[in-house]
Amino acid sequence: KNNLLEIIDLKTYYPIKGGFLRHTVGHVKAVDNISFTIKNGETLGLVGESGCGKSTTGRTILRLLDATDGKIIFDGKDITNLRGKSLRDIRKDIQMVFQDPYASLNPMQMVGSIVAEPIMNFSNKSLKSLKGEVMELLRKVGLPEDAYYKYAHEFSGGQRQRIGIARALALRPKLIIADEPVSALDVSVQSQVLNLLKELQDEFDLTFLFIAHDLSVVKHMSDRIGVMYLGNIVEIADKEHIYDEPLHPYTQALISAIPVPDPRKKNSRIVLEGDIPSPANPPSGCPFHPRCPKAMAECSLSKPALKEVKSGHSVACHLY
Ligand code: SF4
Ligand code: MG
Repeated sequence: KNNLLEIIDLKTYYPIKGGFLRHTVGHVKAVDNISFTIKNGETLGLVGESGCGKSTTGRTILRLLDATDGKIIFDGKDITNLRGKSLRDIRKDIQMVFQDPYASLNPMQMVGSIVAEPIMNFSNKSLKSLKGEVMELLRKVGLPEDAYYKYAHEFSGGQRQRIGIARALALRPKLIIADEPVSALDVSVQSQVLNLLKELQDEFDLTFLFIAHDLSVVKHMSDRIGVMYLGNIVEIADKEHIYDEPLHPYTQALISAIPVPDPRKKNSRIVLEGDIPSPANPPSGCPFHPRCPKAMAECSLSKPALKEVKSGHSVACHLY
């Protein structure tokens, strides 16, 4: 299968303003040179602790933020610096499902109009003429048809996320970027929404970039997984390889923290010392070295590049 998305050496830095004149005194290296691809129909999970740059990656691909450097190739086209109409055209093909369905939907807007809005933004169709299409979308996300006439505030969190998903599907996008789509929901409805996303992926031929901090959620959803730490991808591989033979010491620590249901299979948890350093002032060498249980002398001196150590399994660590 072809690559739908190709990210090459992407950097997204935020300027830090300071001093009397509010000039730029430094940069937060939120995304610091990452590369990955997503094939058509595939789900890439992006996992890491809060502040690791995964949401910034998603927002940069959506072109809500400007890349500082690098390239975003979508469907064979360089979209890194598109503006105006050509950017608008691309926006039809890349949609987002947000973390918080309470904050991302207008509670006083009729659900029919919430879902129809993206189509109306790209055409001169009236709400009335879109009614059948919108009702079909509501049905596909598991909402009753009379939801059309209700307001977003009349729905629970899980149902609101279904509305958000219907809205994201309205333009028949190729890529959906889902940023923590279930982390604001009750555990009891999380798997329903995840299963819905999977069903829709098959039905609508969707490709997903699935961002989450919860490793069990990412495991459920992904074909491949990229692990981020401090703006870098430190390991990327098929899901099975990440969970069964994690290579990077940071991935090993994350995996070791997942609770095991079987008490006989004792998991020796690797507890990391210290806090995540600030991306405004990242450590020298390997960004993980101040916390790494396996750090060696060279780790503070040179930054390991992400390299493929087994077929399809890449890691950025001097151990390999
Ligand atoms: Fe740890 Fe060194 Fe590997 Fe970084 S490069 S993860 S500090 S062993
Ligand atoms: Mg985030």
